[in-house]
Amino acid sequence: MIAEILDALVDVGRQVHESGLNAGTAGNFSARLVDGRVVMSKRRVRKATMTSDDFVVFNPDHPGREALEQASTEYRLHLASYRADDAVRAVLHTHSPALTAVGLRRSSFPQLLPELETVVGSIVINPFESSGSERLADDVGRAVGRGASVVILKRHGVVTVGMSVAQALDRLELAENGARTILLAER
Ligand SMILES: [Zn+2]
Repeated sequence: MIAEILDALVDVGRQVHESGLNAGTAGNFSARLVDGRVVMSKRRVRKATMTSDDFVVFNPDHPGREALEQASTEYRLHLASYRADDAVRAVLHTHSPALTAVGLRRSSFPQLLPELETVVGSIVINPFESSGSERLADDVGRAVGRGASVVILKRHGVVTVGMSVAQALDRLELAENGARTILLAER
């Protein structure tokens, strides 16, 4: 089970790089196992070439200092998302350009593509908060608790949640594609 999840997360790293949804060491990924433990990407990992060694596994109730020192500096927003909704099994944070660009221009996501809401769910734009901060994590947790599937982090990137790694990746790809379409229409 854990091997499958690690393979899926490693694959996400390659896919988001190849499709231009993320670049370099930006972003971080996690999944919640059936036993409640969380698998999270380590800090400063190049996503295109990551392996299963680039993840740390810990109990979110008692993570221990060593695990948190290794885990992505955005671990708080991942844990807040899991706390906010029991159904969430995967959290992907990426610096996807089109979604981030929509967030630079607006304070709410334009409801121009009805299908996007059906297939992705609610996409919200969060006001700017510093990377890795408690406030950012609180905001993301609150948005996920209210049913958001995609939370755009103003002047930063995007967080996508799903009931599986595959669902989170699908949502990210569809939301980014929708954002790209909206930006093209606004030119
Ligand atoms: Zn980031």
